[in-house]
Amino acid sequence: MAEIKTQRLDGYRRLIDIARDLASTLDLDELLDRILMAALEITDAEAGSILLYDSVARQLYFQVATNMDQPTMHGLTVPLEGSIAGWIVTNRQTVRTENVHDDKRFFVDVEETTGYETKSLLGVPLITKEKVVGVLEVLNKHNGKFSSQDENLLLVLGAQAAVAIENARLFQQSDLISEFVHELRTPLASLSTATYLLLRPEISQEQRVQIITNIHNETLRLNTLASSFLDLARLESGRVQYHKTRFNINDLIYECKDVMQGKADEMHILLKVTSDETLPLVEADRDKIKQVILNLLSNAIKYNCPNGSVVINADATNAEIVVSVQDTGMGIPEESLPHLFEKFYRVNEHENRASGTGLGLSISKQIMQGHNGALEVRSKVGVGTVFTLRLPRYPKTIPQIRR
Ligand code: ADP
Repeated sequence: MAEIKTQRLDGYRRLIDIARDLASTLDLDELLDRILMAALEITDAEAGSILLYDSVARQLYFQVATNMDQPTMHGLTVPLEGSIAGWIVTNRQTVRTENVHDDKRFFVDVEETTGYETKSLLGVPLITKEKVVGVLEVLNKHNGKFSSQDENLLLVLGAQAAVAIENARLFQQSDLISEFVHELRTPLASLSTATYLLLRPEISQEQRVQIITNIHNETLRLNTLASSFLDLARLESGRVQYHKTRFNINDLIYECKDVMQGKADEMHILLKVTSDETLPLVEADRDKIKQVILNLLSNAIKYNCPNGSVVINADATNAEIVVSVQDTGMGIPEESLPHLFEKFYRVNEHENRASGTGLGLSISKQIMQGHNGALEVRSKVGVGTVFTLRLPRYPKTIPQIRR
């Protein structure tokens, strides 16, 4: 009896230390990692995960998990109905079970995808300000069964975690928003100057047309900026799900070439595909890879020289599928290369040559990292640039997504 009491006290003491630790970080990923590690420690569990709840899509998505890698995790969603996590969200109650396979609510798809076998499970809702933000689950207790003491400790940790998650999210959003607002200032200032000029009686018809064209272009750019920014915000918050399928990379490359052909003709740029027709299938999110290739092609055309060319090639090595987009354009100065994938970064010398947002490459890089792949660049000023996109040939799993 005395021993149980001491254990309980130790558990709560540990929780106080953890609370202090959680309050000290505002980085969401880091925070969730710490919460999960603490959960495994206090309940003596083998594995665990934190799922966040998307109330619009009415599903949960894995944000951290100790029993699967990142790309697998990002391809997995858990429905609200027909899953233990969903039941926890809907009922705002704990689930403690010795064998999940005896539980009708268990969502088997995750186990099939990850290959990790779950027996015992303890899950608690993460609730803050009356709102369920997600679920904290620990799996397979090392010795014996999860106890009511484990349940109480995890509930307290869950309550602390929910507040910390909300804070980190708000902070992350305010950080991104301030960058976005900063980026809005310049175009807004130029729009305001343009409208002021339009109102002046002394300007000529020709000047008027020029100003209206500028306003039109700047509005289009603001539009792209807004949607790219949303894309990036979703990617940065880890809320993007990759719906992987198997597909032919050359078909996708020709599809992208067709989309960009008009733009290339307009700028007198030759577009050419040189890939070998017999390449193995790629396993990835086709729409997202298309977005990356289109972005690279659009840049290769935009930052090219008149009568220049763009060559797209795909190749396979033992481990990877490699796609390159090579242009004969203006190139990128060496000192700019380390910053190229930062958000809103644009090469100074290019600012007046083509319009852009400086977001395309950071979005592309995040998408490639989400696939366990890579995006690299080589460039020489006055000669041209090559972007190389690498995808692993044998990704671990192809998630079964139930919709
Ligand atoms: P955007 O093109 O909208 O400005 P990106 O993130 O796609 O944004 O690219 C960031 C910057 O990288 C561009 O502004 C440009 O200066 C440089 N860049 C990208 N691709 C190329 C390329 N193929 N050749 C030369 N410079 C490039």
